[in-house]
Amino acid sequence: MKRESYCKIVATIGPASSDYKTIKQLFKAGVDVFRLNFSHGSHEEHAARHAMIRKIEEETGRPIGILADMQGPKLRIGTFSNVSERLRKGQDFEFHLDKVTGDSSRVSLPHKEIFAAIKPGEDLLVNDGRLRLTVEKNDGKVLSCKVQNAGIISDRKGVNVPGTVLPINILTAKDRKDLEFAISLGVEWIALSFVQKVEDIHRARRLIRGRTRVLAKLEKPSAIENLEGIVALSDAVMVARGDLGVEMPPERVPQIQKQIIAACRKEGKPVIVATQMLESMISEPVATRAESSDVANAVYAGADAVMLSAETAAGKYPVEAVKTMDRIIQATEEDPDFDSIIHAVPLPIDETDSDAIASAACDVARNRNCAAISTFTKTGSTVRRVSRLRTLVPTLGLTPDATVARQLCLAWGVHAVKTRDDVENFADMVGKSTRFARREKLAKNGDRIVISAGVPFGTAGTTNILRIAIVGEHEESKSASKSKPAKKSASRKTGKSTEKPASEE
Ligand code: PGA
Ligand code: MN
Repeated sequence: MKRESYCKIVATIGPASSDYKTIKQLFKAGVDVFRLNFSHGSHEEHAARHAMIRKIEEETGRPIGILADMQGPKLRIGTFSNVSERLRKGQDFEFHLDKVTGDSSRVSLPHKEIFAAIKPGEDLLVNDGRLRLTVEKNDGKVLSCKVQNAGIISDRKGVNVPGTVLPINILTAKDRKDLEFAISLGVEWIALSFVQKVEDIHRARRLIRGRTRVLAKLEKPSAIENLEGIVALSDAVMVARGDLGVEMPPERVPQIQKQIIAACRKEGKPVIVATQMLESMISEPVATRAESSDVANAVYAGADAVMLSAETAAGKYPVEAVKTMDRIIQATEEDPDFDSIIHAVPLPIDETDSDAIASAACDVARNRNCAAISTFTKTGSTVRRVSRLRTLVPTLGLTPDATVARQLCLAWGVHAVKTRDDVENFADMVGKSTRFARREKLAKNGDRIVISAGVPFGTAGTTNILRIAIVGEHEESKSASKSKPAKKSASRKTGKSTEKPASEE
């Protein structure tokens, strides 16, 4: 199953999309990576969803990425005797570390980290930023505040402290349990919420110990201040516009989104644009013009992926939302000016063999009108360096590692395939590339493809060769190499009709 677009789709699974049929429809409609949101749902629910995705993967023979999103340090106030209170602009209001019953003058805020860090002049935002209060005094147990705008405050509403770096581990006790559970399921990505600084990623990596890839959600002003360091240390990044737009004035979000995408493209780290992309489709079957434009702008900026949250997790039209997103991506990428827009900012090419080959492969693909760029990869790195260049030619990412194939589902323009075994020699390299390009419908007989690989074959970090091949012509048979039963080689020569989707040939 081949996607017609380069930009990928991430969709969140939730109550509206937890049955096998819906998840399969979402996948068929264009989802490349599913997000399990650990802010909601039980471990049993996540395990069941995970198993269904893996079953769909098996049935379709296509790798599917799974991202486990950790809730992170979500801060909440306590409760009120009257459930909610209306606060007046300019009035005084207190937050108490100790448990107190809330009224019109105070409420409890059971998070000692806030009291340890927040200073007079800094703000607390309540209820998605609807209420803003400025701290006038902090005695360690009580924050005396001035209310900046009138509004309602009510039981257990969320609190953001945009101007304060909290002295916390962004992986809470709940997150650490969820993380171990998600890893035991076998997810490819762990997403970290409310990353503040580079050390947060270091700390998470010490817990994860290389068992999954790490995705940093950028939703705090302090993360933006440490952008370069965080991008360098993460395997991927999310522009988490929901909380970002609370912690920062919403009018700054578009600019920050561009800045994050640019930083990620420079480093070759996959970047997802998330939240409210097709928000109205939670309750309506069609997207607004503004939403279409928002998705298109992320695609024009060269994001690796765009994400759906409540639209697919809890909305009325989950499948329609994915179809809509897919149509917007395709229409945008069909813009005759798309190629020049997406390359408006030139990218530096690192002085490495791998980047030189990646860049040359892209040049050959453009100049010789290749149907595909075929890459062999052990860790995914070679493919990501090609993907980073955003060449409008499908990139075949061939890897014997199922996890790497799934991770590559998040990378722009990459069609990942898990191969049965490593490439063995030149003939095998050409044979695998041309056969998979044809089997996966990226190319047909007579099409030219460009191949990049590393000699000695099967070693990580050795990308050093480039080869042009014609599908159907340069198919040096693999039987020339070694070891496979003659029967297989024979069926291979008969070509297309015997090629089955789920196995290598
Ligand atoms: P969330 O993260 O949906 O987990 O809050 C995304 C965002 O804040 O945009
Ligand atoms: Mn968030």
